[in-house]
Order: sequence, then C-alpha cells, then structure tokens
Amino acid sequence: MPELPEVETVVRGLRDRLIRSRIRSIAPPNRRSTRTPRARFGRLVGRSFRDVHRAGKFIRMAMDDGRLLTAHLGMTGRLVVLDGDRPIEQHTHLQADLGRGRELRFVNPRWCMGGLWMLNGPADLLDPTAELGPDPLTISADAFVELLGSTRRQAKALLLDQRCMAGLGNIYCDEALFAARIHPRARCDRLSRPRRRRLWRAIRDVLADAIDRGGSTLRDYRNVDGDVGWFQLSLAAYGRAGHPCPACGKPISHATTAGRSTHYCTRCQRF
Ligand SMILES: [Zn+2]
Repeated sequence: MPELPEVETVVRGLRDRLIRSRIRSIAPPNRRSTRTPRARFGRLVGRSFRDVHRAGKFIRMAMDDGRLLTAHLGMTGRLVVLDGDRPIEQHTHLQADLGRGRELRFVNPRWCMGGLWMLNGPADLLDPTAELGPDPLTISADAFVELLGSTRRQAKALLLDQRCMAGLGNIYCDEALFAARIHPRARCDRLSRPRRRRLWRAIRDVLADAIDRGGSTLRDYRNVDGDVGWFQLSLAAYGRAGHPCPACGKPISHATTAGRSTHYCTRCQRF
C-alpha cells in the first residue's frame, strides 16, 4: 500500500510531466472512483496544470484556474502519464488527453479505496484534506515535541491518526519507532523531550531514505511502462516477526496496536 514516500515519489514524477500541460479532452470519469459530482470534471478541459503537490497521502494537482484535481491511491491505485496509444487497462477510471499523444490515467482496481475529487479551490467543503494534521516532513522538531507532550495517547496510535500527523502508515510507523527505540504503546506525554525529539528525527530519516529509494525506482521504471513499482524496502522491524532484531538479535515481536499489526523489539524499544 502506498504510503507517504511512495506518494511523494509519484508527485515528483507527475510534476515533471504535468506542469504546463493542457487538458485537451477528458473522458467522463468512472463514478466508482469519483468522490465529487462527476460534472465537475468536465471543467478541466482547456485548463493547464500549474503545480503538483502532496497533502498527507493525497495527490493535489493545481490547475491554472485555481481548481484542484485531487487523488488518493488507496491500496492499489495508480496515477500515470503515458502514451495514449497504450491499451486501456481494466479499472481505468480517468483518461485525460494532454496532447502530443500523452494521457493522464487513473487506474483503481480496488475502487472502494482511494478515488478522485474535483475541488473548486482550497476552501471547497468537499476537500478530503481539510482535517489532515501537519506533515511529518515539514513539522518542526519543537512543534512535534509539543504535540506529543500534549497527549496521553500511545505513540503508534498518535502517529497513525491522520488528523495528528498526515501521511504516516503502518510500515513507516513501525520502522520509525524501532529506529527511535520507543515502544509502540509508550504514552506520548511520558516520553522525555530528548526521546520525543529522537522520534521526530527517526521519522524524517526513515521517510527520506524511502523517498531516495523511490527516486531510483522511478527512474528505472518510468520509460518502461509509465508505472512506478513500489519500493523494495529494507525493513528492520515491520513484517519481521520472529526474525532476529538487527540491533540485539532478540526475535521481533508482533502484536496488534491501535487496531493495526505492529512489529517491535521488546528489548530495544522501551516505554
Ligand atoms: Zn532489539
């Protein structure tokens, strides 16, 4: 499932290919993936892309008239720019002609997850990003330390809550908590300030490392089929239950925390 680094990589790839491109025509998007009235998508014709950016795990494509085409990849969605003569894949829910033989396509096999929003602007009431918390890559260390100090919630539950921190998912939460040597169920306000700051740093490092890997994945794949293979991650904790902890050798434990599968080392990660 794409998390923040994967979405960031898609955004960077789209930025290169979409900015200044004008939409010549658009096929009516599939209603299964549209989360705003479908008629709105027709207004994209004739508009150019001004910018592409990320909000949590949402992809925001700003048009030259201020409207925002917004996408969420859900579990398996893909947003790609490719040659229009490429066969239409099953579950292609959006096709926009960009001229010069290129098309923007949104492919969403598991359409109950993810989707498309056509927003009239940043204040649109249907904006799914309105309640997102700060981005883990841009929040300051001081703000992060204060955020954790203000809540009695458990560390992993807080990090997964998109209203508190936008874009972190299960994999990178486990990896960041492992790197910071903090137990997933540690109470946030009981962590010392240096440990909270260490978690802030660990989150950034884990995400930056994954984005770096994604950059090379993108370069390898983009000319082949316009697709982005998700990253081959070297994970220390996530998905490694029973395997030795890379730091101390004790088998990695597995439990359910905040309703999610959680992997951690009981020796290295403390409350
Ligand atoms: Zn360990």
